[in-house]
Amino acid sequence: MTTENTETIAAIASAPGAAGVGVVRVSGPAVPHIAETLLGRAAQPRYAHLAAFRDNGGELIDRGLLLHFPAPASYTGEHVLELQGHGSPVLLDELLRRVCELGARLARPGEFTERAFLNGKLDLAQAEAVADLIAARSRAAARAALQSMEGVFSRRVDSLLQGLIALRVHVEAAIDFPEEEIDFLADPAIERQLQGVRVELVDLLREAQRGLRLNDGLRVAIIGRPNAGKSSLLNALTGSDRAIVNATAGTTRDVLRESLSLDGMALELADTAGLRDTDDEVEREGVRRAHGELQRADVALLVTDAQHAVADLTFFQTLPAGVERLVLINKIDRDQIAAAEERREGVDWMWASAKTGEGLDTLREHLKRLAGAGSGEGAFSARRRHVLALQQVDVHLQDAANELAHGAGELAAEELRQSQQVLGEITGGYSSDDLLGAIFGSFCIGK
Ligand code: GDP
Repeated sequence: MTTENTETIAAIASAPGAAGVGVVRVSGPAVPHIAETLLGRAAQPRYAHLAAFRDNGGELIDRGLLLHFPAPASYTGEHVLELQGHGSPVLLDELLRRVCELGARLARPGEFTERAFLNGKLDLAQAEAVADLIAARSRAAARAALQSMEGVFSRRVDSLLQGLIALRVHVEAAIDFPEEEIDFLADPAIERQLQGVRVELVDLLREAQRGLRLNDGLRVAIIGRPNAGKSSLLNALTGSDRAIVNATAGTTRDVLRESLSLDGMALELADTAGLRDTDDEVEREGVRRAHGELQRADVALLVTDAQHAVADLTFFQTLPAGVERLVLINKIDRDQIAAAEERREGVDWMWASAKTGEGLDTLREHLKRLAGAGSGEGAFSARRRHVLALQQVDVHLQDAANELAHGAGELAAEELRQSQQVLGEITGGYSSDDLLGAIFGSFCIGK
């Protein structure tokens, strides 16, 4: 896929405050002309020329390096020019103005990466990873974004697509020959093939969810009855006093959110109001928001104490599927119990004290693990959009399996067609202009 852009774009591409060096990046057909004018002769490809950048009247703007990357071997796939000067915003502005005078216009946010995508240099998931790499808040997140930028995630999606296409060919062929003696649809090979694709999808979905947590941070909703110690716990973990700790029930009326970094793993903790029925108007609003918070959480951390633990497990009842559950039996200092941990029916239980801090290290370790710590070399970053798409594919594949089991070949084929379309949206095979606008519009200028 290549598109011919007649416009040349330019932007200041260095980070604000970067020590010493400033970069103006230019991409498009006018680059050879701009380079030659600034250098006074044709630039050698990929060679660092020392150049005197001059304005229209021959006045020196700055002295720096000029690099020309001819099309198509460049970031955007077009002619690209990089002008490295001194990091002064005034000089960089002047240099940018000069480049625009010579035939470029100001680039929109993300326009360089958008051109790279349109010229087939990157697929959509890779382009998103560029933005995620720049925005990464932890070393683990940066490493994961780098993996996605290198195409690790995209290759997994492509492999799934290939399997899906092979399956579609099989199913479509089976419905095209209904008059044959043999019932092709009942062929166990089709069933096996479909199961194979589903297994691959479920693996990829799980890893993409982990990639999303690495990228966005783990979302933890702290739930429990009023006075269980939720605010105290939030304060103990974040070391702040933002949550109001109070001995009367029902003080935390709104949802309080805190970001936290545990050994480089990003976490977002939300202290929810106690999820109980209430007559108080303001508190009812808090409870409503707490329910909303749970819909977007990765982990529900139930705070309770030794007396209420069993009764409070009902808090888990309304949780959406896929939310990890942790139970913290708080106030062990008051009840004179030892700190401990135990795994019961897939749920991790911990005994600790938000007041003294005893036992909280175990909680920190669990949170770090859930946030993706130690997820190893191959971990890639992903976005919510990707996870949602994979979940949608999962539903289509389940439906396809059901239709197939009932011999409804046409309906199964339609589910598979939709699976392929949704999957294609991840890497950009099927993306609408709206989607592209939303993705590239969120980049910073110069990328
Ligand atoms: P929330 O309503 O769940 O947010 O509960 P708070 O954090 O406001 O705590 C309610 C009360 O329990 C306060 O008086 C806290 O000081 C007390 N509290 C919280 N955690 C502990 C703990 O681990 N040990 C003891 N002894 N008291 C605690």
